[in-house]
Amino acid sequence: MSIAESPVFTTLVPLHPAAYAELAARIDGVVTTPSDADWNTARLAWNLSADQRPDAVVAPRHAEDVRTTLLFARDHQLRVVPQGTGHLASPLGDLAGSILLRTGGLLGIDIDAEELTVRVGAGVLWGDVTAALAERGLMALAGSSPDVGVVGYLLGGGISWFARSMGLAASHVTAIEAVSGDGRLLRATAEEEGELFYALRGGGGNYAVVTAITFRVFAVRDAYAGMMMFPMERADELLGAWERWTRELDESAMTCFRLMRVPDLPELPEFLRGQKLVIIDGVVAIEQAEGGADPTAPTGRTADAGRTADAEALLAPLRALGPFLDTFGVMPVSRLGELHMDPPGPVPGTGDGVNLDELPRAAIDALLGLTGPDAQTPLMVVDIRHIGGQLAIAAPDGGAVNRLHGRFLLFTGGMSPSPADAAVLHAAVARVLEALAPWQAAADYLNFREVATPAERLYPVDTLARLRAAKRRYDPSGRIRSAHPLQ
Ligand SMILES: Cc1cc2nc3c(=O)[nH]c(=O)nc-3n(C[C@H](O)[C@H](O)[C@H](O)COP(=O)(O)OP(=O)(O)OC[C@H]3O[C@@H](n4cnc5c(N)ncnc54)[C@H](O)[C@@H]3O)c2cc1C
Repeated sequence: MSIAESPVFTTLVPLHPAAYAELAARIDGVVTTPSDADWNTARLAWNLSADQRPDAVVAPRHAEDVRTTLLFARDHQLRVVPQGTGHLASPLGDLAGSILLRTGGLLGIDIDAEELTVRVGAGVLWGDVTAALAERGLMALAGSSPDVGVVGYLLGGGISWFARSMGLAASHVTAIEAVSGDGRLLRATAEEEGELFYALRGGGGNYAVVTAITFRVFAVRDAYAGMMMFPMERADELLGAWERWTRELDESAMTCFRLMRVPDLPELPEFLRGQKLVIIDGVVAIEQAEGGADPTAPTGRTADAGRTADAEALLAPLRALGPFLDTFGVMPVSRLGELHMDPPGPVPGTGDGVNLDELPRAAIDALLGLTGPDAQTPLMVVDIRHIGGQLAIAAPDGGAVNRLHGRFLLFTGGMSPSPADAAVLHAAVARVLEALAPWQAAADYLNFREVATPAERLYPVDTLARLRAAKRRYDPSGRIRSAHPLQ
């Protein structure tokens, strides 16, 4: 039975905006409805192409506000849609009958330098955690983009530049504070509320609204990182060479092969404007990652030690390909958020991503036929991240998603300022994914699926059964709606 069909929602009647005055009076946070002047700002997602039209937006100040909102939703038979930034807003679909619960006001970063952990509020962004940790010589397993929300990223798994040597970021979470769908304030750890702790680490935000999260950090200051640029005309030769290079690659290295059509924008440097490029960016870990409350425990995997010379040796085969620009060198890990050139703020985007088992010649031909130098395509980027390494091995203390399937993770998309652009991009993305379907892995990575995706494509059967049981236990009425529901 889908959530929409569950008993609580069969009698759904839209609530008059005035009824929200009652909720506003009961919480310290802010309630915004369509009759408020700032409605269009309040409902905005990071992905500006997601035209979110909930019944109301609630911005809680603390966990008690979250609980009050969930109970109000219960009394009025509404759904609650938790959202940090809205990076993954596209798959949410129709939000009629829903309260959009924006967690941006749940702040706070508490570093425990003794235990090597950090506790952050649900509204905290990766850039802020990275900066606070760097001041103490510490690092967390952030993704490529500083304005992604910590909680949304961790609930889906979390792939950092160190993921091939340290696994998914979610496997390093130690405690989660949350309000369950049925309104209980809970703390989930390996010892308490074990099924909730399991489900929230990779199983998305289906069971509870997370208010704070604690995870391990590592004493790492520098990495060997950068990018190499080539003209896209060489894509065929370069993708083949990169794929061969990844086969026996040390876990300390993580790179992304990108086909990029740079827009012709005046704010970009002249030599990049309007260019078609191949970019290989990435990171080689060069410091032993001391970390975890107990580094000798099975969970305390350490990064492969590698010094600068070793990193250079690892990258030598790529350098031999002759990039016209090569920025690889030692840099502070606090600057890794600049590496991938992700948009610095909200943009309208349309894209999708899948895991691939292999990238043989036939797959390269299929991909480049649609997106290579001679293709007419609206797709601005095709990213292929090399995964495997520790990402392929189930973390012994991990949660619902404790490993990734396949050797590569593909994401492709572009900018969609209008619905017409989005429709064109959707079709182009679908063509690429269809062409690569023969090599698609058994399960995809939740955080890279930006269209509604059947849960069976995200989790193996036994994992899905356990997640559905957790949903029934913590959100029996199906109150909470996540980006990727379980039905
Ligand atoms: C430019 C860009 C770069 C990216 N780079 C990486 C990367 O390097 N590595 C990587 O792994 N991923 C990456 N991602 C994917 C990213 O991890 C997902 O989009 C992630 O879901 C974003 O989390 P968010 O909180 O910012 O987004 P949101 O859209 O706010 O949240 C996503 C979903 O998480 C759940 N959620 C969020 N907060 C809560 C909460 N407090 N309680 C309960 N549920 C909640 C909800 O179901 C929500 O729909 C990137 C995405 C973009 C757009």
